[in-house]
Amino acid sequence: MSDCDCSTQAGPSLKPLEEALELMLSHAKAVEGIEELPLSAALGRVLARGVVSQVTVPPWDNSAMDGYAVNTGDMQGENTRLPISQRIPAGSAPEPLQPGTAARIFTGAPVPENADAVVIQEVCRQEGDAVIIAEPPKAGANIRRAGEDTERGIEVIPAGVRIGPQHLGLAAAVGVGRVSVYRRLKVALFSSGDELVNPGEPLGPGQIYNSNEFTLKGLLEGLGCEVISLGIVEDTFDATCDALTNAAGQADLVMTSGGVSVGEEDHLKPAVEKLGTLNLWKIAIRPGKPLAFGHIAGTPFIGTPGNPVSLFVTYCLFARPFVLKAQGVRDEELTPTPILAKAGFDWPKPDKRREFARARLELDEQGEARVSLYRSRSSGVLSSLVWANGLAVLTEKQTLAQGDLVQFLPFNELLK
Ligand code: AMP
Ligand code: MG
Repeated sequence: MSDCDCSTQAGPSLKPLEEALELMLSHAKAVEGIEELPLSAALGRVLARGVVSQVTVPPWDNSAMDGYAVNTGDMQGENTRLPISQRIPAGSAPEPLQPGTAARIFTGAPVPENADAVVIQEVCRQEGDAVIIAEPPKAGANIRRAGEDTERGIEVIPAGVRIGPQHLGLAAAVGVGRVSVYRRLKVALFSSGDELVNPGEPLGPGQIYNSNEFTLKGLLEGLGCEVISLGIVEDTFDATCDALTNAAGQADLVMTSGGVSVGEEDHLKPAVEKLGTLNLWKIAIRPGKPLAFGHIAGTPFIGTPGNPVSLFVTYCLFARPFVLKAQGVRDEELTPTPILAKAGFDWPKPDKRREFARARLELDEQGEARVSLYRSRSSGVLSSLVWANGLAVLTEKQTLAQGDLVQFLPFNELLK
C-alpha cells in the first residue's frame, strides 16, 4: 500500500471526489500501440495523431448558389442586360469571364477569373443568349472564398479526439483517407457474489440475476473497449485472488462489481492488497461510497460496488474518465460539462457526502428546463436509471429550494 488512506473508519477517511479522481487519473496512461485504419473503419476510435489537411478547402472561389457570375463593374443599375458567354457546371474548369458578359454558373462551380459576384437566378430573367439582372449585386455576393474552411498543412482535428461522423467527414474533405488511432483498450471484468445467476437460468432460493455484468459490459463497449467477461466469481478469498490474477494477465484494466465492502463475504479489498497495491478505497459520494482502485501486477484495477445504481454512478464519475484517458482521449474531454437548471424539488436535508441523484431534465408548462428527482434514493432500484435521463449533483451540506439552480449531468454526456 503506498498512497491509500484505506482505514475502515467511516466519515473522515472518505476521499473527496476531486482528490480521488485526480489520484486515479494520475495512474491512467494511454495504451501503447497505434494502428492505421481507413476512414470507413475508424468510427468511435481515438485519434493518436492529428489530422492534417492535405488541401485548401475550398480549393478555389466557388459559387454558393445557382445563378450568373458577373463583374459588378459591368452593372448599369436595375435590369442590366448581359450576353451569356459560358456555362460553368460544378466539376468544370471555367475560362476567364469576358468583359461585359455573364457566365451561367451552378452551386459549387469555380467562379471564373474577372468575375466578382454571383447573382442568384431568382432575380434574373434569361432572354435568348442574354440575361437581364433585376438588381446589381454587391461585390463578393454568393461567392465562397478559397480556404474559408481550412488551408493545406493545418491540423484540423487534434490527437486525443474520439472520431465521430463529423470527424470522418472533415478528414475526408481534407483528403485524408487513413488515420492513426490507438488500439482498443482491453478490459477484463467479473462479478463477485454467490447469490448471482445469469439471466435465462432458473433462480434458486436466495438468488438474484447478475445485472451488473450487462450494465458494465454495455458501458465499456459503448466507449469502444474490447471486453473480456470472466463471469461470476464465488465469494471466497482464493477464488477472488485467482480471478484477479487471471484478469490482470490478459487485460489493460480489470473491473469488478460487488464484494468491495467490509463484510466477511467481501474479498476484493484484501485480495488486491495481497496481490498488488490498493491506492484508493471509499469516496465521499452517494451512492457509491465503497469504490476501490489499485494495481495487480502493474495492471490497474477498479472495483465498483455491487448495488446496481452505485455501480452505474461510480462508473460515470470515475471509471469512465479513467477509461477515456487510457484510450488516449485528451484531458479536455475526460469529464462531462454539467448543465445548470432549475430544481423542481426541495432538498431540505443534505447529506455529508455529495449526492448524485437519479433525475429527469424536462421542460415544464412554461417551457423552462426543470430537474425532478426519482422517488427513491435506494441504490438497488435499477428501474430508476431507465426513468432518469441524467444525474442531479446535490452538493454536500447544502439545501435547495424549488427554483434554485442545480447541476445536472445528462446521460447523453456520461454515456459517450
Ligand atoms: P456487495 O457489494 O457484494 O455487498 O453487493 C451489494 C448489493 O448488490 C447486494 O444486494 C448484491 O446482491 C447486489 N449485487 C452484487 N452484485 C450484483 C450483480 N452482479 N448484479 C446485481 N446485483 C448485484
Ligand atoms: Mg457481495
